[in-house]
Amino acid sequence: MSKIKVAELFYSLQGEGQYLGVPSVFLRVFGCNFQCPGFGMPRGESSNERMAIDPGKYNTYDNLPLVHTGCDSYASWDVRFKHLSPMMSVEEIVDKMESLLPMGRFGRNKHLILTGGEPLLGWQRSYVDLFEEINRRDMNLTHITFETNGTQTLNEDMVNYLNETDIDITFSISSKIPSSGEKWEDAIKPDVVSEYFYQLVNASGYFKWVVSNEDDFQDIVAAVDAYRDHEVKIPIYLMPAGGTTLKYNENEKWVADLAMQNGWRYTPRLQVQLWKNAWGT
Ligand code: SF4
Repeated sequence: MSKIKVAELFYSLQGEGQYLGVPSVFLRVFGCNFQCPGFGMPRGESSNERMAIDPGKYNTYDNLPLVHTGCDSYASWDVRFKHLSPMMSVEEIVDKMESLLPMGRFGRNKHLILTGGEPLLGWQRSYVDLFEEINRRDMNLTHITFETNGTQTLNEDMVNYLNETDIDITFSISSKIPSSGEKWEDAIKPDVVSEYFYQLVNASGYFKWVVSNEDDFQDIVAAVDAYRDHEVKIPIYLMPAGGTTLKYNENEKWVADLAMQNGWRYTPRLQVQLWKNAWGT
């Protein structure tokens, strides 16, 4: 029986990107290949904010503090918080999905979002069992989005399985530019991303970049060029930096203008506006 270490499993609205506002089940799996300590910090500096949080004080995600610098989903990969993420069998996961979904089914209007952490790490080996269990229960899954950092190759069994189905696949690719604190050569992988669209027949995708200043913009331009050289020509969304309403509000108009000037798309962050970026949203 396949198991997955589940950081969060909830029903909400897709808050960002091409399917903004679509009711979706979010399966946030545990683990990431990055830490992104640079978000919200002066260039070259790393956030230590999460290290000040005592993991022993928390036994659920409900009251876990939000951070304003570094990765805002730190508890989904920081091993100090791994006790908050139970190992669940695919049957238990699908039981919970059934209970979350109105009438227990996906259908065309409700999506499944696999997120993290990084959802394309080792848990990929359990996704075929997960999709099969959803299918076995006739839950009519029609659309899966992988919210990925675009550094991981696809599991061959999963590719073969998905290519035998009618499920639409979307890659929401949030490549990490240097403001994340991760190295360019580790984070920008055009050869990896281009394969997604060759391997999966029903796949489409878009880039989603967090931007907070002119340096970020220049890095995004360079990344877009690198991807275009590998024939990855998918829509580009810019998203204001800011896990808090104050920071977000400072950025949103400037980022919207930037998107218009470049013929790119703008995406708000509904989860910040509606729910103050709380866990479980
Ligand atoms: S890739 Fe995403 S989940 Fe992983 S550390 Fe960076 S921001 Fe957090």
